[in-house]
Amino acid sequence: MRHIKNPPNPYNKHSAEYIGEPPPTKLEVFEETATKKMITKAFASDWEGGWRYTVNCYRGCVHGCTYCFARQYHEYLGYGAGTDFETKIVVKPNAPQLLRQELKKMRDEMPHLDFSFATDPYLALEAEYKLTRQCLQVCLEFQIPVAVITKSPLVTRDLDVLTKFKKASVFFSMPFLTKEKSNPFEPYTPVPEARFRAMKMVADAGVEVGIGIAPVIPGYNESDIPGLLERAKECGASRAFMSMLHLDTDSIENYFVEKMFERLSPTAAQKVINTMKRERGGTLRHATYKDRMTGKTEQWEVTKKLFNFHAKRLGFNVRQQVTEDPYHTSSNFVVSDQPIQQSLF
Ligand code: SF4
Repeated sequence: MRHIKNPPNPYNKHSAEYIGEPPPTKLEVFEETATKKMITKAFASDWEGGWRYTVNCYRGCVHGCTYCFARQYHEYLGYGAGTDFETKIVVKPNAPQLLRQELKKMRDEMPHLDFSFATDPYLALEAEYKLTRQCLQVCLEFQIPVAVITKSPLVTRDLDVLTKFKKASVFFSMPFLTKEKSNPFEPYTPVPEARFRAMKMVADAGVEVGIGIAPVIPGYNESDIPGLLERAKECGASRAFMSMLHLDTDSIENYFVEKMFERLSPTAAQKVINTMKRERGGTLRHATYKDRMTGKTEQWEVTKKLFNFHAKRLGFNVRQQVTEDPYHTSSNFVVSDQPIQQSLF
């Protein structure tokens, strides 16, 4: 049972607060019939290639990670970035048809498509709707390379499709090594071990697999980095990246801080706040977009060195040196000097 809690929506003139205990929430699913576009193009200076093309068949995410930057997108719909994001899920039933129409027009300018960045493409609802699956099939028809970023083992259902791509990869977002560490920040996601099992199934099927250690929450999960990389390696992952927690809006910051104080001890929560503020120059928010994924202190440099050392030691990000498509590897692997740090959350 979750109680309704949404920070005020900055796009709404009014916001309501409950006097006393708010009521429990219930899951609501809406089908969006007015979807016009499926491909979103977004500038991403931190991402290889500079541009990111994404497909999301759902809005909102029942996984409810308290750090999720996609919470702000629910506010554009008039909903809240808190429990609304986790319980009011919008489904785009026409997603495969729309994607096909768009790709017919822009296939030649589409270097790759990423399934993620506004929701997890493998929410439990996907088991029924199969929209991500159908969109992957459309990409296969058009021979578009794909990357899937998920926390859900449901992705293994679609291995029959993913194995047919010339270039496809699956990244598991895994910032924490144990369910005890994960639970305060990822209350409704599959536990880390379930994600590792799925990772192994994907690797065993011959699809490239990666781990996204994101977000690194300063003062909380840096020590998990070596263990995460080691487990990922054992499960067949060959790619890895990490990035720092970023709280992009007031609503996200408020919700994150409130939930952290509910679920961690006051000392542990305050440690995160203090460490984060040191990294951000006195606040919890980054000053510029460029600073979004990175910290300012020697401590962050140490964290990066820790990641780089273990990633290199374990042979992550060994890849093609010259490729027309830097997202996806195929053959002629060489070892790069530095592990490639992409970013996701
Ligand atoms: S971080 Fe990913 S899995 Fe977690 S709530 Fe956001 S979209 Fe869902």
